[in-house]
Amino acid sequence: SKTQVGFIGLGNMGKPMAKNLLKHGYPVIATDVFPESCKELQELGAQIVDNPAEVADQADRIVTMLPSSPNVIEVYTGPNGILKKVKKGSLLIDSSTIDPAVSKEMAVASEKMGAVFMDAPVSGGVGAASSGKLTFMVGGVETEFTAAQELLTCMGANVVYCGAVGTGQAAKICNNMLLAIGMIGTSETMNLGIRLGLDPKLLAKILNMSSGRCWSSDTYNPVPGVMDGVPSGNNYQGGFGTQLMAKDLGLAQATATNTKTPVPLGSLAHQIYRMMCARGYAGKDFSSVFQFLQEDENK
Ligand code: NAD
Repeated sequence: SKTQVGFIGLGNMGKPMAKNLLKHGYPVIATDVFPESCKELQELGAQIVDNPAEVADQADRIVTMLPSSPNVIEVYTGPNGILKKVKKGSLLIDSSTIDPAVSKEMAVASEKMGAVFMDAPVSGGVGAASSGKLTFMVGGVETEFTAAQELLTCMGANVVYCGAVGTGQAAKICNNMLLAIGMIGTSETMNLGIRLGLDPKLLAKILNMSSGRCWSSDTYNPVPGVMDGVPSGNNYQGGFGTQLMAKDLGLAQATATNTKTPVPLGSLAHQIYRMMCARGYAGKDFSSVFQFLQEDENK
């Protein structure tokens, strides 16, 4: 029978990912600082413990899915962190989107304790997390990739090896910068078309058979009523928070600054998402930039 897998961070993404590990027959031992988010997993048979150290005390393979760099530092190196109790030879996979430099620091700290750390951020959103169709971008020691793949294929359709630790994050940050630019572009385009008298569903259909098509137009359209089963149809609840997108764009800006890389649209996208956070959109899905562009009209 399969040995226990640890899971830390049962939020929008972590919960459905942990459920898929259970579905594939892995016993799961999990924790989250927010007890409410553990209930459903407990009902499904997962063992819930108080903190990351207790997870590491029992499981030698652990997946973490946390909001941002400070949470990852806390969960690995804090007073009740994984590294306080980690077993030698453990495999630690972090699927959060964080600063690649922090991934490298966590890898060094893990190695000191005889454990292996890999960064494996994901693309795909809550829908893909639920259906087990995420894309994982994996960085770390190549000889450990097969071991990571065994777990990640339970939660994802694509598991791609990127290179040394931190390169998974690099790929993810690049993807999300393009995603943000695409979402803002789709939103302003849809808004303009609607004001020019076009029916939003028809406009989306035309874009999706033309050269303007992108993921934000054909899979995650930001205009309410154009598609079913996306956050725009549910008052922008759930999905991928504006605050998280602002975080990812900030990571992209920092890495661009460090490498003297010009990213003018990425920079503008970052500022737009920062303004949204300051204007009450932080907890809404990032496709609410469409609503933000319409704000004056709504008042
Ligand atoms: P979330 O905020 O819904 O969930 C994070 C969970 O971590 C919460 O339940 C929180 O209570 C828990 N947590 C925070 N600090 C903790 C600690 N110290 N110990 C234990 N638990 C702790 O976030 P999410 O939407 O699930 O995203 C997680 C990560 O995945 C983020 O880095 C995000 O950028 C990335 N991501 C999200 C999506 C998406 O569509 N939501 C898609 C791809 C990648």
